[in-house]
Amino acid sequence: MMAKTWGLFIDGDYRPAVSGRTFQVENPSNGAIVADVAEGGAADIEQAIAAAERAFPIWSALSGAERGDIMQRAAEIMKRRLPDVVSIEIEQIGRPRREMAAQLARLPEWFSYFGAVARTHEDTVPPFAGSYLNYTRRVPLGVVGHVTPWNHPLLILTKKVAPSLAAGNAMVVKPSELAPITPMLLGEILKEAGVPDGVYNVVPGFGATAGLALSSHPRIRKLDLTGGTETGKAVAAIAGKNLVKVAAELGGKAAVIVFPDTPVPQAVAATLFASFIASGQTCVQGSRLLVHRSIHDDVVAELVRRAADIRIGDPQSAETQMGPMVSAKQRDLVERYVRIGVEEGARLAYGGRRPEGEAFAKGYYLQPTIFTNVSPEMRIAQEEIFGPVVCVIPFDTEEEAVAIANGTPFGLATSIWTRDIARGHRVAHALQCGITWINDHHRIDPASPWGGFKMSGIGRENGLVAYEEYTQIQNIIVNLSDTVFDWYADDGTPKRYS
Ligand code: NDP
Repeated sequence: MMAKTWGLFIDGDYRPAVSGRTFQVENPSNGAIVADVAEGGAADIEQAIAAAERAFPIWSALSGAERGDIMQRAAEIMKRRLPDVVSIEIEQIGRPRREMAAQLARLPEWFSYFGAVARTHEDTVPPFAGSYLNYTRRVPLGVVGHVTPWNHPLLILTKKVAPSLAAGNAMVVKPSELAPITPMLLGEILKEAGVPDGVYNVVPGFGATAGLALSSHPRIRKLDLTGGTETGKAVAAIAGKNLVKVAAELGGKAAVIVFPDTPVPQAVAATLFASFIASGQTCVQGSRLLVHRSIHDDVVAELVRRAADIRIGDPQSAETQMGPMVSAKQRDLVERYVRIGVEEGARLAYGGRRPEGEAFAKGYYLQPTIFTNVSPEMRIAQEEIFGPVVCVIPFDTEEEAVAIANGTPFGLATSIWTRDIARGHRVAHALQCGITWINDHHRIDPASPWGGFKMSGIGRENGLVAYEEYTQIQNIIVNLSDTVFDWYADDGTPKRYS
């Protein structure tokens, strides 16, 4: 099949890059080229920002209710177009159909939720001394930039786009060059729903060129990035020079903490789900299994048995449970960590190899991987691997589990597994992380704040806080008195100026 050609999505339509250059998108399950995409650079970012600046006054002038109606339509159109969107997402990143169908089916909720926020958001009337009416308005920021990764191309983008739209902003998106197509399909969906041309623009390209041009642009008002921690630091420093507000959802090293009152089958099911979904390529991946020493051996034995049963294969097949990694580069990176783990003295209890056979020859497949005998200071237990690798670490006391869980530079997510309600909350309160599940993992909702402590990021996605972070507050102070106020008159009346 011929690779389809895609332009940049600017001002409601596709166009070639100013340079005329293109790049190719590869299917990581078989190496086939699935698309030839216009490669945006600084000149294209400039055009996209100009289009967004023209559209901003139109979009921001609509009432919240009008924006809410359009966003609800976008939710309905997305439901209709899901089958296509799911197939293309699978082609770009190789995640199994059962994962992408389940994940993308939820995206309309983001447009419905934030559409409802646009429709219902109330401003405040804060107290103010004296005879005054004092109120606040939340107004949009203007043109905002979104820089997104490849692991959940459309989910992560939607988490940024829905609140931006609800608040009345216009935007320019720089998606990962590994997964630029579904972000452009979102442009088609928004256009059909009635979002004016130019409100939503996508400039596919590379981080060092298009990403840099967007994040260093002086006329964006916010830069919202999901990516690695080093990228986040670099981008925040650049945007900060222009006093551009930054939100950053960055790396993680999530722990799955299993207390001994958790039945072994439940502990194992939890770990498989936390660690191996998306071939481990998620920021909240359960990369460390902290398990109470009394059940450690039973959990490891069962984990190895169940991991060996995971069906690896063609991600388009509904039967497949684990697809390839997203790219040769990502698999190389994970394989390097497997070697590091062995050199550090951890025991490779399962996996770490490429599955054998003709079906896997052209794809970037890697087995689910389990390390035991891991100590918390090892590099494999400290650094983000971003692959299907779980490090099992035993603990004896609750305090020790909390200390190990908190003992990395990251602070994104943790799951706690226990039937003891007091312990569940106590441990949650002691954790330094932005997202904590008790007896669950990976769960997300458009209404529930998502983001990290420490080196896992700044700002929050989802929930009212995300909407508010896409606005700025205007305070309006109205003097209700008819008396003439004259500070300089010597008329004996009491004066106040604050
Ligand atoms: P990267 O940090 O490599 O890239 C993220 C995005 O930033 C890409 O679009 C990339 O472009 C772009 N970029 C890279 N360098 C620059 C730059 N100097 N200026 C502007 N843009 C730049 O991350 P990955 O795409 O590899 O995604 C994996 C990372 O994302 C992991 O570390 C993971 O933890 C994190 N992540 C965090 C999540 C969260 O919610 N906290 C969720 C999902 C992932 P290009 O593709 O061309 O490099």
